[in-house]
Amino acid sequence: MPRTVTYSPSFTVALTPDCPWHCTYCGFRTDHQGLIADAEFHRLLDLAQAQGVSEIQFLAGEASDTLPHLRSELRRRGFPDFIAYARWACERALERGFLPHSNLGALTRAQFDRLRPVNAAMTLMLENGDDSFNRTVAPEKTAAGRLAAIAAAGAARVPFTTGILIGLGESQESRLRSLDALAGLHARHGHLQAVMLQNFAPNPGSTLRVAPHAPSLEEYEDLIAHWRRASPGVALQIDPNLNPHWSALLPLIDDLGSLGEVLECADPTQVWTVPDPYSEACAGHGLELRARLPIHASFINAEGWVSDRVRRAIEDRG
Ligand code: SF4
Repeated sequence: MPRTVTYSPSFTVALTPDCPWHCTYCGFRTDHQGLIADAEFHRLLDLAQAQGVSEIQFLAGEASDTLPHLRSELRRRGFPDFIAYARWACERALERGFLPHSNLGALTRAQFDRLRPVNAAMTLMLENGDDSFNRTVAPEKTAAGRLAAIAAAGAARVPFTTGILIGLGESQESRLRSLDALAGLHARHGHLQAVMLQNFAPNPGSTLRVAPHAPSLEEYEDLIAHWRRASPGVALQIDPNLNPHWSALLPLIDDLGSLGEVLECADPTQVWTVPDPYSEACAGHGLELRARLPIHASFINAEGWVSDRVRRAIEDRG
């Protein structure tokens, strides 16, 4: 039986890209776009349904409630705060048979408690645990803030995906220390289902035009070996669409993350299938590429990680 590499068939819905922060590598943020319009929200769920994906990945910028124009819009649309709106979005997704997977920035324990019943899993990248480096690329982000949020997700018993962002000029030593910090949180809370080694890829929206230090294959191999020693049992994930070494790394990793079509190319008449190169590359290494749900199997069957509402949605999917 071949070893499997997994991925989650996914459709991304940005609840709002507005963000008060200014990370130099970000191609997502906007200043004043507001919340996604209701009609567009439902149109995207229609598209996702036509494509047959299981996961809706909800995204937002950081600290949405601190933006006055978003607070006004939330009030106008009948929501006391952004988390109430995000809950509403997750509930609409669940009603249509999807499993929500939200990445809404660094949240508090109380915010995770409110979102847990309607999310199969959630995500927040640590990115880098070294604030002297963070200040150069993400001036508002702090390691303590990220680690506190990832710990809060663990205390709230949310199956969680996190990871480090690499290729921005950080040292290999700081990457290893960041992984150690994540392993420490997992040792305390047991909530990490996957850790991503996500590389920066220049994109039109970011102010960085080149990757200051693209990690080598050998550096990835060292990071993977380090994580296996530090936290065996937590899946290792890379993004094949961003990572130039993805094919060579397949025998060493477990998961390709949430894969979906680029929205603009979505064709509602076509059921989405995983792009051939990924399954062919796996087969070339004697591996089998297999779809999974946004919550990893080890958490579905474990006691206390899945809300009744999410469990019903999982069971309905068969
Ligand atoms: S990476 Fe996140 S926090 Fe940074 S600017 Fe982009 S949306 Fe905001």
